[in-house]
Amino acid sequence: MTAFAFDNSYARELPGLYVPFRPVAVPAPRLLYFNRELALELGLDDAALAGAQGAEIFAGNALPDGAEPLAQAYAGHQFGGFSPQLGDGRALLLGELIDSHGRRRDIALKGSGRTPFARGGDGKAALGPMLREVLVGEAMYALGIPTTRALAVVATGEPVYREQVLPGAVLTRVAASHLRVGTFEYFAARGELDSLRRLADYAIARHDPALAGSADRPLGLLRAVAQRQAELVAQWMNVGFIHGVMNTDNTTISGETIDYGPCAFIEAYDPATVFSSIDQGGRYAFGNQPQIARWNLARLAEALLPLLADVDDVPAAERAVAQVTEVIDAFPALYRAALLRGQRAKLGLRDGDAADDAADGALADDWLALLHRERVDFTLAWRRLAAAAAGDASALRALFVEPSAPDAWLVRWRARCAAEDAAADDAAADGATVDEAGGAAATGSGAPPALARARRMREVNPYVIARNHRVEEALAAASDEGDLAPFERLLAALRRPFDENDAQAPYAEPAPAEVTAGYRTFCGT
Ligand code: AMP
Ligand code: MG
Repeated sequence: MTAFAFDNSYARELPGLYVPFRPVAVPAPRLLYFNRELALELGLDDAALAGAQGAEIFAGNALPDGAEPLAQAYAGHQFGGFSPQLGDGRALLLGELIDSHGRRRDIALKGSGRTPFARGGDGKAALGPMLREVLVGEAMYALGIPTTRALAVVATGEPVYREQVLPGAVLTRVAASHLRVGTFEYFAARGELDSLRRLADYAIARHDPALAGSADRPLGLLRAVAQRQAELVAQWMNVGFIHGVMNTDNTTISGETIDYGPCAFIEAYDPATVFSSIDQGGRYAFGNQPQIARWNLARLAEALLPLLADVDDVPAAERAVAQVTEVIDAFPALYRAALLRGQRAKLGLRDGDAADDAADGALADDWLALLHRERVDFTLAWRRLAAAAAGDASALRALFVEPSAPDAWLVRWRARCAAEDAAADDAAADGATVDEAGGAAATGSGAPPALARARRMREVNPYVIARNHRVEEALAAASDEGDLAPFERLLAALRRPFDENDAQAPYAEPAPAEVTAGYRTFCGT
């Protein structure tokens, strides 16, 4: 049996916070997907795991040496209502590995059978949703957005019963950790302060070791999670990603995107977009995501409060409430700063002076308002703005029913770009140090500023995203016909989101509007 160099800190340090449990064997495991590059990063024997042994291990039929499979306890606010006991109903943490960058990573199975947390569920997963997790997770990874990743998908050879009978599968998921806001809520709601304290210390050691030993470390943890979530959600917003089910049990402490259920990328820009069939009130609409992140952080703050002050010590408790409130109230500013940083890059602007924040924010807002008003494809509009930076706005204008619609905005944007280039020129003339790319542009030793800007913009504005019709097409072929070829081709395109060429072109096309209008995603169960 190939070796996994497990070092299982969760099992070792947090007894009482999980239930040891074993995966259920499946009849006919077949390895459909295996990420060899990720396996190498994890120090695994990729050649050994790419064959029959991998199928056995990633199905849960064989446990690698050193695995200590366990189901984690957690609670969660789902669509605003509190569920005191969720937990890993169909997932198991096998253990942790230290990867080649020295980072601790969880290796977990999903769809590996019922656990004591399964409630009414069957503990299983269908192939389509597990392949969706591969596609969207790898798309996010290629876009530079923090995410859990799929290491393997195994077809189990047994049916799972949903609205239809579907082929079953097990996913192997790699995560910086599976700690969630809901993990804290579970122990806080039960008044298990000792467990809560151990959990917080564990989370800090794992994700924010610089805080270890500090007196107000739960507050530091809250601040750190707020910063990571602000940056994560800003990245989602800048790439048009709708998570779809931002419950607190799907909100990580690590700041990674987790649980690709009813997720989707936006097509024609509209902040009110909701694709999830279960999100009838539109709670998790695209434009609501920043407020929801803040709401979820407030739930984390509440869960951490008992660690900050003894509830019976009223002045201390009031002080603690004031402290966490300050962190939650600061979230919108953290988010806006992260958003603007990303927007500036997308607009081809350098990370600017604070003095320009308001004007640059308004420039970005007005661009988005224009896309919304004109129902323009979000991804293509940003991408074609790069061509406009290089001097040719025709492709961008062609996206609009009335091609002159963006012209007034383009005048403002060009003026802003010109002002930035002029400032860089002045700085170069004064002999002031400028950053590398700006220096090259200003001194004429590199590309002209317009071309350098267009190039930078093409590195942050993707050409290919996981378009809903392409994802559905790939999953249907795999699930209905056992044909993985469309999945493989789409995955290859998603791994090079910034490349624009003939091979990529079919994946860059928006879905027909009538497809998008009727598009519904379902929870990944
Ligand atoms: P999710 O919607 O995937 O984030 O899951 C929410 C909760 O439902 C978690 O506690 C899951 O473990 C549980 N769950 C979802 N699907 C199943 C299933 N088929 N069997 C058992 N538990 C499940
Ligand atoms: Mg979940």
